[in-house]
Amino acid sequence: MKWVIEVSYFVVAVLFILGLKGMSSPVSARKGILWAGAGMALATLVTFLSPEIKISINLVLILVALVLGGSAAWWSGKVVKMTDMPQMVAIYNGMGGGAAAAIAALEFARGNVHGTVALILASLGALIGSVSFSGSVIAWAKLQGVMKKAHRLPAQNIVNIVLALVTVGFGAAIVVAGTPEPCTIIAFFVLSLVLGTIITLPIGGADMPVVISLFNAFTGLAVGFEGYVLDKPVLIIAGIVVGAAGTLLTQLMAKAMNRPITNILFQPISGEAKGDGSAIEGSLKEVSGLDAASMMRYAQKVIIIPGYGMAVAGAQHKVWEMAQLLEKEGVEVKFAIHPVAGRMPGHMNVLLAEAGVPYDKIFDLEEINSEFPLADVALVIGANDVVNPVARTDKSSPIYGMPILDADKAQNVIVIKRGKGAGYSGIENALFYGENCRMLYGSAQQAVADVITHVKSFAS
Ligand code: NDP
Repeated sequence: MKWVIEVSYFVVAVLFILGLKGMSSPVSARKGILWAGAGMALATLVTFLSPEIKISINLVLILVALVLGGSAAWWSGKVVKMTDMPQMVAIYNGMGGGAAAAIAALEFARGNVHGTVALILASLGALIGSVSFSGSVIAWAKLQGVMKKAHRLPAQNIVNIVLALVTVGFGAAIVVAGTPEPCTIIAFFVLSLVLGTIITLPIGGADMPVVISLFNAFTGLAVGFEGYVLDKPVLIIAGIVVGAAGTLLTQLMAKAMNRPITNILFQPISGEAKGDGSAIEGSLKEVSGLDAASMMRYAQKVIIIPGYGMAVAGAQHKVWEMAQLLEKEGVEVKFAIHPVAGRMPGHMNVLLAEAGVPYDKIFDLEEINSEFPLADVALVIGANDVVNPVARTDKSSPIYGMPILDADKAQNVIVIKRGKGAGYSGIENALFYGENCRMLYGSAQQAVADVITHVKSFAS
């Protein structure tokens, strides 16, 4: 039986890696999810062959947990809105970290962890898993709007460092004791959970997706360490894959926002933005749906920039319908995607793919930026921060240095949004006040539908 388990775990590892490879491109992402899901299902089934599982209360508990967890995940996966995906990822990820920490707690309490290396890895896994769990719960609460404000303690960074050192001290005590006292274990876990909470509390919404990705990497590490302790290679492999992917994603997001990870953790944007827009000149100029349609119908080249507002409005199908109508009239239409447009990496790519926009019409920031001066119209749909030129000019702005899509360099800019709502960073946008910019007010879905009606009336 042992060889069946080991061969199955090897197959699981291959499936996880194939899954991750598949998810690296929107074209193969669905297949990637299926590969990884098949790996997970196989890993779960093989667990039942494990000699440690006896027909007893354990088996009943595992089955009850599987039914409860599986149904909750199935149901929440079905009903979650695309815009709520980041908080769902946060809470699922937190569960992974919490599970790794719970395994460590149990193994410590049973006195099952032997040898210095295993004790160190179990303590590290417990610490990282607990931080990831409590931090992810706070991240969920903030993104869900349950917790509205960022809370910053006086001398926050010093408190964080002292608390981290004390917690590591308790972890070291566990390693030295080998079979620690229950009160040492409890103190270690409580402190670790508090640490995750106070690190995350001051972090504002704009940085939250990066933090979630960082916790994701942490969870991977914690699971990998506990895999070593439990002597389960499949956990080690899954942990390494998640840890590596999470680390790379965190780096990519931080780079796209031009915010080093250390700044995100130690100098978070609290949501109370600094750059107040006082240096911005000009006025907001409104345009009607009819005029916007005519500007685009008679343009040679239109670049569409989708953002968070398009996602909230669920306007992607209408946007693609409009793009197709314009193309039929001979207009060249391209989509420009900023790496942090929306609320999670790839957010816009997923929505546009769902609407049927072919991949060869979708361009990354580096590919498209040089084309804006050649575009007759840059159509900004529910995007704000990712096209804000203050990122280039205002050193006091929280988004200073973030690479942006150069929409302001197009001949004309049309911005679809509902009113004067700020973007995620909470700051004023200089683009909207530019001479070449016109505001088309309305929810994205309805504004684009209006434009479609007028484009149809101009059809040749
Ligand atoms: P923003 O959050 O900057 O702006 C969204 C705009 O959409 C708002 O100004 C709002 O204005 C408008 N809006 C809201 N609802 C609607 C609607 N129904 N119809 C039309 N417009 C609407 O979005 P961006 O995509 O430009 O930028 C993403 C932000 O999120 C950046 O600050 C980025 O750093 C941050 N972020 C993203 C991450 C990611 O992975 N994608 C990760 C980390 C951070 P109004 O209320 O007037 O309609």
